[in-house]
Amino acid sequence: MALVLGCIADDFTGATDLANTLVQEGMRTVQAIGIPDGPAPEDVDAIVVALKSRTIPVAEAVAQSRAALAWLKQAGASRFFFKYCSTFDSTEKGNIGPVAEALLEDLGDSFTIACPAFPENGRTVYHGHLFVGQQLLSDSPMRHHPLTPMTDGNLVRFLRRQTKGEVGLVPFRTVDHGAGAIQAECEDLRRRGVRIAIVDALTEWHLRCIGEALGDLPLITGGSGVALGLPDAYRDAGLLDAGLLADDLPTIAGAEAVIAGSCSPATLGQIEDFAQSGPVFQVDPFKLAEGHDVAADALKWSEERLAQGPVLIAASAAPDQVAAVQKRLGRDKAGAMVEQALAVVARGLVDRGVRRLVVAGGETSGAVVAALGIKGLRIGPQIDPGVPATVAISGTDAVPDLALALKSGNFGKPEFFRAAFKVMP
Ligand code: ADP
Repeated sequence: MALVLGCIADDFTGATDLANTLVQEGMRTVQAIGIPDGPAPEDVDAIVVALKSRTIPVAEAVAQSRAALAWLKQAGASRFFFKYCSTFDSTEKGNIGPVAEALLEDLGDSFTIACPAFPENGRTVYHGHLFVGQQLLSDSPMRHHPLTPMTDGNLVRFLRRQTKGEVGLVPFRTVDHGAGAIQAECEDLRRRGVRIAIVDALTEWHLRCIGEALGDLPLITGGSGVALGLPDAYRDAGLLDAGLLADDLPTIAGAEAVIAGSCSPATLGQIEDFAQSGPVFQVDPFKLAEGHDVAADALKWSEERLAQGPVLIAASAAPDQVAAVQKRLGRDKAGAMVEQALAVVARGLVDRGVRRLVVAGGETSGAVVAALGIKGLRIGPQIDPGVPATVAISGTDAVPDLALALKSGNFGKPEFFRAAFKVMP
């Protein structure tokens, strides 16, 4: 069957999170890194285009999202999803509202919903107010976010500041009555001229009801949670085959390695766990800053070890050490320097026969994927919540087939690095 769902995500790990949900619900899914320049891959039910548009200027976010939509339309998608963070990360200027309105306009429609709820991760929406665990969004640590401080938990009021059109609410009492009630309320809101409705949701059942009710809307916007019910709706509508092996990936053999650039507590714990049974090379940022070719040292070190089993090359360090590096070099310079070194290591490892690679850290993953010339990822089975095993799509013969697991810093259980290789194809 043809491509059904075209998704636009405002960041890389958010795109993976959504793709992971769609695969688990039975859609064969590819994540494209940026807007593809070639034809759509075959045998795919959903494509998630990962942009980096969360905090860029509004006009640029709108332009990139429109271009992604145009590509997805010509690829054959008939339903569209705009994915943002479950904490509604944005500023008073945008980019959620302006992008949603632009996409609606390009699709020739006048109504959509906005639902960031993700109950499994503690994000719920009640009477239009977003809660993070038991705290209102504006009382949660998100109020101190460096780029998108969220100081208003009332999403109806907050989204109104970003949009030209009217913002409404599908309240809890309606959602709790199930799909029929949600559908009727949305039709009523549309008639009354509402352009975007915040939809309350406290449970996974609510999210599935929203999917069932609104699966035929051209555009849905929200976190990955509200995508949960969509594949069922598409199957009911005859758009999607039942019983697809959505997470089936080709087997990829070769040497195994882990690259860690995240300094989050979860990653530090995973490195400690790995070190009990496998070799670890520690990248020293001070040596890097002195111009020493630490990447070459790491690659030389790996050569004798790769045949025996997975190796780990890490820049990750405890907060006091990171602070010392940042004090000396500045935060951005230190980050970019380490990312660059790890990207060179990734390229060198692949040249030395590594075909199965785990990367820890969101920015680090971005740098590695760029260095390897990877254009997309075919999404496979889940390793840990939010982190699937994937196979890279390069778009050129110069890059060999690779099995990849890209983990945002704080995700995964302590034994993640060892577990990943067991789940990877
Ligand atoms: P996370 O997903 O945990 O946020 P990222 O990879 O996105 O991880 O960000 C971690 C940042 O820290 C990267 O820019 C990386 O280059 C940088 N970094 C890694 N190790 C060190 C270190 N020892 N000192 C300073 N910065 C570091």
